[in-house]
This record gives sequence, structure tokens and C-alpha cells, in this order.
Amino acid sequence: MSAIDDLPPLRAVIAEHGLSARKSLGQNFLLDLNLTAKIARQAGDLSSSDVLEIGPGPGGLTRGLLAEGARRVLAIEKDARCVPALQQIADTYPGRLEIVNGDALEIDPEARLTPPIRIAANLPYNVGTELLTRWLDPPDWPPFWTSLTLMFQKEVAERIVARPGSKAYGRLAILAQWRSEARIVMELPPEAFTPPPKIRSAVVHLTALPEPRFPAPADRLFRLTTAAFGQRRKMLRASLKPLHPEIEDILAEAGIAPTRRAEELSVEEFCTLARTWAAR
Ligand code: SAM
Repeated sequence: MSAIDDLPPLRAVIAEHGLSARKSLGQNFLLDLNLTAKIARQAGDLSSSDVLEIGPGPGGLTRGLLAEGARRVLAIEKDARCVPALQQIADTYPGRLEIVNGDALEIDPEARLTPPIRIAANLPYNVGTELLTRWLDPPDWPPFWTSLTLMFQKEVAERIVARPGSKAYGRLAILAQWRSEARIVMELPPEAFTPPPKIRSAVVHLTALPEPRFPAPADRLFRLTTAAFGQRRKMLRASLKPLHPEIEDILAEAGIAPTRRAEELSVEEFCTLARTWAAR
């Protein structure tokens, strides 16, 4: 019996199902169920939400989410070896855990979930960043999720919450902060994982805002931030020149000095610039 439920400890689960960690799948498991329950609590009120979990592995975070009262969990796991271990959890929480064996990058989970939907995951970092970008940039806003609680390498977490003027500030910060509230809620040392990764990790919690913080056409904002941060040391009049021959006029109209650099502009200023450009 474990700290949070009647299931066996995760080390025993891993031994029973032969779940040796595979590097190719980015498998660094959390085995401390007190810790996974703590991460689950960061996701907010779960009792009235469906939770989408990506990459449950042997089920540490899944068990945390269920023990913390999640109404339902949909868990998408690429590694078929994990399914029997996850099935034991489903049997302990009848009707509350659905397991899908597949690649989260190719599966559309929306039809299987009932709003409000919260997303929680401890994912390999490449998959995590790809999914985060997709979740933050859907065609319509608000998105299908109300919150994201995601483990990242600490350096990526810092880029998500970065403020103007800092080295970490860039496209990801603007994408995240334009339409959601983002904060780092936990930091974890490598020893929290089995096997331990080389880097420190952090959990970021993002809450979707009902509407964007400032109005702006998404496609223009995307092109502006890509160009501006693509050459972040250059003045905006140079880095944005490829976007429009009269970019200096557009900058002036938006009230932004053309000698400023990308990392000095707030999210609001980028949005003003996107609107001014679109109005041309
Ligand atoms: N959530 C577990 C935990 O906290 O112990 C496992 C975390 S481990 C860092 C990442 C998990 O994501 C692994 O179980 C891995 O097999 C799974 N995974 C990797 N790529 C995936 C993908 N594209 N779709 C779904 N799951 C994936």
C-alpha cells in the first residue's frame, strides 16, 4: 500500500511490469507519490474537472490526480508497456481513468473530454514544448482547456514566465502571457526523478484568460515576435524591416521608438504594433 492509495508503491509497479526507463521516450519517472499529489494540487480544483494527462508512464502523477479528486482523467501514453500498470489504476478508480495508447502529438483528445478541462503532464521536454505551443496558439480563444500544469526543464519554465528586459524574454513569454496567466509553482532537483536527468525542472501553471490581455491579430503578432526575436540584438527598425518597407512609420504610429530592441518591448507594445501593422 502507498502513501496516497491502496495500490503498490511505484518501485514495485515498475519491477512487476518491467518498466525500465527508455531514454528515447524521455522517461524520467516521479516515484514519490506525496510529490505527485503535490503537483496535482497545483492544477487547481480537480473535483469538477476532466483532466488530460499526457505521458502517464507508470502512473505516479495519474495516481496523484485521482487521489486529489479529479472527476475523470484521460491519460495518453506512447509506451504500450505502461498500459497494464495504468489499467490497475483504472480498476482502483472505476469509471474515472481512460487510457489511450498512442502519440499525444497525433491524437485529438477533445472529443473524449467534458469541459472544464485541465491539462497536467510531466513530459519529455521536446514533446512538452511542441504541445505547449499548440495549446497556446489555437485558431480560436478561449481554448478547450482552462489550465495547464506542466513540468519543464527549469530554463524553459523561466522563458515562459520571463518579463521584458530579461535574457529569457522572447517569443514563448509573449505567446504564454498574451492570453494566459503563467507562473512557476514548484522547482524540482534532478534527484526527484528516476533516473535523474542532468538538469533542474520546474512546474509551470498557466490559466487561460477568458480573452486576450490586449487585442491583436494572432498571425501578425506571431510574425512580429519571430522577426524581432530572430535578431534580438538589432534595433527594431532593422529586425522588422523584412516585414514591411515602411516599418519605421508603423513603429512611430504605434508610439515605439525604432531604435528599441525586441527584449525591451512589453506584450502590450507588441500587440499595439501588431494592430497598427494590420491596419495598414
Ligand atoms: N508522468 C510520468 C511520471 O511523472 O513519472 C512519466 C513521465 S516521463 C518524463 C514522460 C512520459 O511520456 C513517458 O512515460 C513516455 O513514455 C511518455 N511519452 C513520451 N513521448 C510521448 C508522446 N509523444 N505521447 C505520449 N506520451 C509520450
